[in-house]
Amino acid sequence: MTANGRQAAAERLGAAGAVAPLPDHVDVDVAIVGAGFAGVGMAIALLRAGRRDFVVLERDDDVGGTWWRNTYPGCQCDVPSNLYSFSFAPNPEWSQTFALQPEIGAYLRRVADDFGVRPHLRTRTEVRAAAWDEQARRWRIETSRGPLTARVLVVGTGSLSEPAIPRIPGAERFAGPAFHTARWDRDVGLTGKRVAVIGTGASAVQVVPRIQPHVAQLAVFQRTPPWILPHPGRPTRPRERALFRALPPAQKLVRGGVYWGRECLVLPFRFHRLSRIPQRMARRHLEAQVPDPVLRERLTPRYEIGCKRILMSDEYYPALQAPNAELVSDAIAEITTAGVRTADGVERAFDAIVWGTGFHTTDLPYAERIRGRDGRTLAQRWCAHGMQALRGTTVAGFPNLFALVGPNTLLGHNSIVFMIESQLAYVLDALRALDERGATACDPRPAAQASFNERLQRRMRGTVWARGGCASWYLDADGRNTTLWPGTSWSFRRATRRFDPAEYELLARAGAH
Ligand SMILES: Cc1cc2nc3c(=O)[nH]c(=O)nc-3n(C[C@H](O)[C@H](O)[C@H](O)COP(=O)(O)OP(=O)(O)OC[C@H]3O[C@@H](n4cnc5c(N)ncnc54)[C@H](O)[C@@H]3O)c2cc1C
Repeated sequence: MTANGRQAAAERLGAAGAVAPLPDHVDVDVAIVGAGFAGVGMAIALLRAGRRDFVVLERDDDVGGTWWRNTYPGCQCDVPSNLYSFSFAPNPEWSQTFALQPEIGAYLRRVADDFGVRPHLRTRTEVRAAAWDEQARRWRIETSRGPLTARVLVVGTGSLSEPAIPRIPGAERFAGPAFHTARWDRDVGLTGKRVAVIGTGASAVQVVPRIQPHVAQLAVFQRTPPWILPHPGRPTRPRERALFRALPPAQKLVRGGVYWGRECLVLPFRFHRLSRIPQRMARRHLEAQVPDPVLRERLTPRYEIGCKRILMSDEYYPALQAPNAELVSDAIAEITTAGVRTADGVERAFDAIVWGTGFHTTDLPYAERIRGRDGRTLAQRWCAHGMQALRGTTVAGFPNLFALVGPNTLLGHNSIVFMIESQLAYVLDALRALDERGATACDPRPAAQASFNERLQRRMRGTVWARGGCASWYLDADGRNTTLWPGTSWSFRRATRRFDPAEYELLARAGAH
């Protein structure tokens, strides 16, 4: 099919009704999976580079990803919105310095509209499998609405998008409603109910203060207490918004200041002595908010700050001390039809259970679904040494596969959107380099990928994630940190600034020699 024909097919694909099957023989240059910050950002980057032959395949009903799925009360970003947004699409209208989910979701939908992503978007389309066809030099993609082929596969399926629920005996027996924070069930009213929140991570700490005033009884089940800092968020002032509207460089300046301020926060993760500063701040916050020494003791983490994600809240500790709330730190032995039984033999009855237990981060479902040159899946490729990629983006044996927010690209201190934008530039540079060389695909050289990861894991050694004394979702089953970037986000930008063809085997078009 010609480029024009393919583009027409891509547009037909995007414009088709929500549940119609795909038109026959859909072939696109680029297939993007996922329509969160990563997928939408990739689509915009392609459009801005004049590349229109692509589709965005999204299993949900609309764009947003994290900010479409997480509708629990209190859901909010923990990086200032001025920075947690695209650099090319500033929003002077944020109503809070740390926006809530509905506003971030609306921002992403607006950006998708403004930049013309919609005609390329195929919602309610789940990618079930993708296999590299070495002869055709294309990806064969199976979706819930039929097959398609693409030269390039960009995976933007998110690393905090598959809810994880721990295997607790009896979990399926519970008679009442039970749901994960990322799959909030709006049909279940919690007002006046006895509610268990299991887990004390970022989502739980946001949702607990929002539901506590309304429920009859609240029990928060804690395995490990988090370090919590005071929340610096506030509503934005009309004057600020007017200034940003009238003078966009002013907002850019503020964004730059916020960015470099956040960059400094990586220092305590790398240098133990510096971690005493935020740890002291968190301890003071706990002391100021929790006068009862016994409860305070139970809420005091036994690991170094930063080892797990640092949380921010002024409302979590007060909510736990409300007359209708209880912190339960005994291990859960089983879930019963009526509630939760802890290891000390006590059974508490509940009307609803909320799982605030995080996500699958090191065993990502897409790894099971993608097959490379030798027919093996990414999961099989990664089972020996954990998730690995070259520059967090490409994987040896998987030509023209680009993983956005791929292995070792998350941050504990700064905005993921910055990392995503670094990767977008890298992907575009790769496509440009292929065009210039008359090649159709690139496959990272195993030696380049191995030496990149050796260097990366060496840098990881002295960090708080290795030395901090905690088990966290950053680590895989073998204790390897395959999720976080070990340095500044700026160093990642430098690492992805240019696509180096020497690190790749370049493949000619099918049939060409
Ligand atoms: C509650 C919460 C708060 C957060 N706050 C912050 C923050 O303040 N700062 C920060 O930097 N990060 C934050 N994060 C991390 C956040 O996930 C990233 O910042 C960012 O949203 C990731 O964007 P993404 O596009 O990579 O993934 P996602 O937003 O997860 O989007 C992935 C998309 O892929 C789709 N998808 C997945 N599999 C398939 C498939 N097989 N077929 C088709 N579509 C598929 C999903 O439906 C989803 O729409 C937060 C995460 C959560 C859960």
